[in-house]
Amino acid sequence: MSTCAKCLKEKDNVNIYGFYYGKKIGEETIDKFRSIETKTTYRMTPLPKNVYICDDCINKKRTRNVLLLLLFLVLLFSGLSFGIVKENSIIIWISSLGMVISIILVSIYSKQKMLGDQIAINLFREKLMQQGYDSFFTRDEHSGKVPKM
Ligand SMILES: [Zn+2]
Repeated sequence: MSTCAKCLKEKDNVNIYGFYYGKKIGEETIDKFRSIETKTTYRMTPLPKNVYICDDCINKKRTRNVLLLLLFLVLLFSGLSFGIVKENSIIIWISSLGMVISIILVSIYSKQKMLGDQIAINLFREKLMQQGYDSFFTRDEHSGKVPKM
């Protein structure tokens, strides 16, 4: 039994999640054969901040993500049926629809680890920003498995 940092309840389905935080220390622009890239450097904490979160809070976040995407889908279709969208742009709408469906699938099956880390960041972001930190990464983002947002 541990206390969940999100709902603050004693739960037995609590897992450890974590994130790295730090400060932006520099930004340099690199000209790679005329494609300009901006490289940002950070000074991050060497170890992740560990946060205990229960499975119920993870599932709630997952459901919310899916609902938001469904809402977007509904708006997309209303736009189409009320004629806001011109018929000649129907291909654009069909491709957006495909995109939205894939995002929904990704969201449903997205890793519990990633969702937990995101919740952990949301819980502590404000407090850490007051202390002057401006960069927050999930463990996967920090290890470079997924691009930093
Ligand atoms: Zn919880």
